[in-house]
Amino acid sequence: MAHVKLHIPGPVEVSEKTFRAFSQPMLGHRGQGFKDLYGRIQPQLQQLLYTRQQVFLSTSSAWGVMEGAVRNLVRKKVLNCMCGAFSDKWLDVSRRCGKAAEPLQVPWGSPIRAEAVDRALATGEYDALTYIHNETSTGVMSPLEELAALKPKYPDVMFIVDCVSSMTAVKVEFDRLGVDVILAGTQKAFALPPGMTVFTCSAAALARAAQAADRGYYFDLCEFQKNSEQNMTPSTPSIGHVYALASKLEDIVAEGLDARFARHARLAGLTREWALANGFTLFPEPGFESQTLTCISNGARPGGRVIDVPKFQKLVKDQGFLIDGGYGKIKGTTFRVSNMGDETEATMRALYAAFDDALRRI
Ligand SMILES: *Cc1c(COP(=O)(O)O)cnc(C)c1O
Repeated sequence: MAHVKLHIPGPVEVSEKTFRAFSQPMLGHRGQGFKDLYGRIQPQLQQLLYTRQQVFLSTSSAWGVMEGAVRNLVRKKVLNCMCGAFSDKWLDVSRRCGKAAEPLQVPWGSPIRAEAVDRALATGEYDALTYIHNETSTGVMSPLEELAALKPKYPDVMFIVDCVSSMTAVKVEFDRLGVDVILAGTQKAFALPPGMTVFTCSAAALARAAQAADRGYYFDLCEFQKNSEQNMTPSTPSIGHVYALASKLEDIVAEGLDARFARHARLAGLTREWALANGFTLFPEPGFESQTLTCISNGARPGGRVIDVPKFQKLVKDQGFLIDGGYGKIKGTTFRVSNMGDETEATMRALYAAFDDALRRI
């Protein structure tokens, strides 16, 4: 069967180079070979996340660490900042972990603004918050800088930030921002296969975790720290992912971080231009559009073109590309196009050409 190239917002297309790296022979994860590999990529990961903290590798998808962060860091009550399917789900996950949790809900398509967070934290009820930098379901990027500016006012509140669909594509300076956890699954902007999460924690988060008696084992932040100091992971990692990550970090260093961030911003801009030029409107509130994917309105917003999305997807797929037909309650009234990972202007233009052809035939 011919391969259909992924332009859904995760998993995204994985390069041949990455697959070759992934399939190298196994190593013992307590042996010197693995420690050398881990130690070699650690400075590159720190550079990527703008941190001097250890960067951890969890063999789990993002939700493992999202749940783990709640279990390690919430003692009193968590404020779940909610603006789409993933951020909304974090409230349910927090409560399933037995934590007291309250929503700060804004309509899908809007970002989370610091002013609303500030009002909620001012009650003094919370010792943690969850926040999604780039809400993949709605294509909205919330202003992380303005959220992080609240941290000095609330030093005892743990700021847990999901950067799943922004890490490596958008500059997130962990130490300067002063937030407590950032995390990302590898199947989004890293363009690796799914199954690993890259994350880091502040010293304050590690100290908070150390006091939590019920933090479990698999996602124990203290275990990650202790093992990372020895260039290891707490349990047997997906070694193929570590090889693939090392290969991807070579690519990232070769491209240059600023060039990589600029490329993602430019390509998302091209998708927005394509949508507007073809009579569509965008789903996100203006000014908060994601730089890694575009959520196009198909009737979810007033005005703008409306098409048969499943038919459009099928016509696009016949030309070798898979796009997403909208997530959760905005399925069909939106559709989403990813520009994460290794995409270039040429590969995106090939996708728009397929879109143009599909629109002519729909
Ligand atoms: C994909 C995604 C997740 C979920 O990741 P899993 O890898 O399925 O656990 C969480 N948050 C955001 C913003 C995502 O895009």
